[in-house]
Amino acid sequence: MSQARSLSVSSRVDSVGESHNSSTAGVNNSNNREISGSDAQARPSLLSSDERAVYQEALQHISREKKEDDLPEGVLTVSLLKHQKMALAWMVSKENSSHCAGGILADDQGLGKTVSTIALIQKQRSQQSEFMSVDSDRLKYEALNLDEDDEGEQTVNDEPKKDQGASSSSTADGTSIVEPSVSQSNTVPDKMAESKKKAKAYSSSGSTTRSMARPAAGTLIVCPASILKQWANELADKVSEGAKLSVLVYHGGLRTKDPRELAKYDVVVTTYTIVANEVPKQIADDDTDRKNSEESSAGNKRKPPSSAKSKYKKKKKKLKDSDFDLDSGPIARVRWFRVVLDEAQTIKNYRTLVARACCGLRAKRRWCLSGTPIQNAIDELFSYFRFLKYDPYSTFSSFCTMIKHPIARDAVHGYKKLQAVLKVVLLRRTKETLINGVPIINLPPKTINLNKVDFSREERSFYLNLEERSRQQFKAFAAAGTLKQNYASILLMLLRLRQACDHPLLAKGNQSEYGGDGSIEMAKKLPKEVVIDLLAKVEVGSAVCSLCNDTPEDAVVTLCGHVFCYQCIHERITTDENMCPAHNCNKTLSLESLFSSGALRICISGKSSSAGASSSADDESSSISQSSYISSKIQAAIDILNTIINTDALTESDTMESNRNRVTPVKAIVFSQWTGMLDLLEFSLNMNLIQYRRLDGTMSLNLRDKAVKEFNTDPEVRVMIMSLKAGNLGLNMVAACHVILLDLWWNPYAEDQAVDRAHRIGQTRPVTVSRLTVKDTVEDRILALQEEKRAMVSSAFGEDKSGGHATRLTVEDLRYLFGI
Ligand SMILES: [Zn+2]
Ligand SMILES: [Zn+2]
Repeated sequence: MSQARSLSVSSRVDSVGESHNSSTAGVNNSNNREISGSDAQARPSLLSSDERAVYQEALQHISREKKEDDLPEGVLTVSLLKHQKMALAWMVSKENSSHCAGGILADDQGLGKTVSTIALIQKQRSQQSEFMSVDSDRLKYEALNLDEDDEGEQTVNDEPKKDQGASSSSTADGTSIVEPSVSQSNTVPDKMAESKKKAKAYSSSGSTTRSMARPAAGTLIVCPASILKQWANELADKVSEGAKLSVLVYHGGLRTKDPRELAKYDVVVTTYTIVANEVPKQIADDDTDRKNSEESSAGNKRKPPSSAKSKYKKKKKKLKDSDFDLDSGPIARVRWFRVVLDEAQTIKNYRTLVARACCGLRAKRRWCLSGTPIQNAIDELFSYFRFLKYDPYSTFSSFCTMIKHPIARDAVHGYKKLQAVLKVVLLRRTKETLINGVPIINLPPKTINLNKVDFSREERSFYLNLEERSRQQFKAFAAAGTLKQNYASILLMLLRLRQACDHPLLAKGNQSEYGGDGSIEMAKKLPKEVVIDLLAKVEVGSAVCSLCNDTPEDAVVTLCGHVFCYQCIHERITTDENMCPAHNCNKTLSLESLFSSGALRICISGKSSSAGASSSADDESSSISQSSYISSKIQAAIDILNTIINTDALTESDTMESNRNRVTPVKAIVFSQWTGMLDLLEFSLNMNLIQYRRLDGTMSLNLRDKAVKEFNTDPEVRVMIMSLKAGNLGLNMVAACHVILLDLWWNPYAEDQAVDRAHRIGQTRPVTVSRLTVKDTVEDRILALQEEKRAMVSSAFGEDKSGGHATRLTVEDLRYLFGI
């Protein structure tokens, strides 16, 4: 545990122990003290790397300056809003902090995290240039001794770091002068193999010196592929002609292989997938960490620091370090001035390849941007802390002993402490946040209506029947003490109940014969035993989709044997990652290797057999189970839509003269979590001659773009029907001022994000949200569970005084949901 690091305790923290009212909770972070170097040296008592140092420091700087910062006139094409100026001041001070240079900007979706980040890049531009130029000069005659490098994969947890502050952008100290290396003049990609060999030769000879120097590069922005273009556009549009940044979109098969090319740009924008592919992973640490934490949680006391272990770790890292250049791409072969992870919840699961890869990036300054940094569990914070190198919480064992276990023991106290820890690195404002009593953003009001729909008589009896059967089954599991073993089948029963609230046909569970394009051809090439094995996996019904934590809709199985919703995995592959997201899998996936049971059956029998055979046993003749049947919920949605469209038409004709200029028609977005429900809804929209577009996770990015564009611009298109699981990142649909949510999800934040498509900067009209639920059904109980989840998250952020609650559905939750 290093002295150098713990000296560098956070520079500005505030009001930790105080109670906040919910509206101003995050704002207090923006105070702006900095410790000068001499100040820091005057505090030798903080030398222990224990978290008390952080905490102590946090308490010492209780000050609530709401400092603002701004850019000179004419740098940006937009002027910063007040809260963005505060974000800028906070981000600048964080970057100049010697402890964990960076943080989490967790403002609500729509508050302009992108603009704040662009402002930061501009504000710190001279430091960045200095970092890049000093380095490029030096490279002309020096090679780096990488072990003296300030940041890197070998400094994951507990290694001393040199010169973290901004002033240290000249890292020349600590580098040793050796012979200039051949590889630096290496411009041709295929020479890389040669230089790799050299690197190997160096390391195997025991030398710590590299043949490959890492060029110093500017700011790297990592985001999901779906918003790559948006970033490039914002970087171009928001910056004035005179202050232009050079931007490289690093994406696609033709991207450069030369790290020095990346180092030429002020900003490089890329995707999580590319980072995952190009950065070597740090697998060993996670396993060690995990074990330790389990040990310590079992004993429930602090474990003594094991010096043997850390030695082992260092050795391991050296080994990995020497392999570094061999399997890494250009992104991993430069030293970044700054790395920004946008939609940083992408790395919330610290075990995933993508999370580990992001941690492996070398950077002086690190940022996470996310409107929903915690979605389900406190654990998610660990992944950000590790990426940020926020010590001492950047190892899983410390995270558990210092944050997680205290919450488990005493929620109120534990959360209070977490709030303190978060305040050091996280700035969060919601749309409701007030600054000096004034809302930080002037969005038109948002009204949320809970519309309670009544079942028809037939639907009610269908539902009650289903509910009774599930209840009996649940009781049987409970009596046998096998609730946990039957988690997946209980989840399935719940799914059917939830779907029955939408439409009886959904609850029948007819799976469409989805499968990736060409998956049948692909399946035919597989050995028959493999096909049979995969078919068993996808048909057995005991699978839970690890992307949505629910029973898979249109289940498909991957070659590696993991089962997902077709939509979930398709969404994942097309917009971002092509690695299997199942725990510890990480096999590469393609759309062609997603197999539905239908496709697999065709391979075995030569024909698509029993589609629907499973449901024919039920009362198939019943009219409410037809796709043409209009369920009460669908009718309720159509009624709302008709009202919207007709009211609008009326006012238009009434005031035609006066309002000729602003006859922008009122539009609506309708969300469901099931593509099957969207199919059913389409039928009714067509019947009612309502023009709509559709967006779901099974569509290509181009088709999505087209749908969004047409919805936003074509006055005839009044409705967007959309999957809750798709396109919830950054999409701007302010053309809509009505949002209809057809069904409820466990995770209330998915709903918030959905609503934020419309309720964001640029919206000029009041937004109405209609949540449709059916009276006296499982949906009532889901509403209550959602409230609990909100309580957990707001406890973490200190937005609410209540203690927290666990996250995944527990046995108690299940009892409750079944009304037992
Ligand atoms: Zn899913
Ligand atoms: Zn897999």
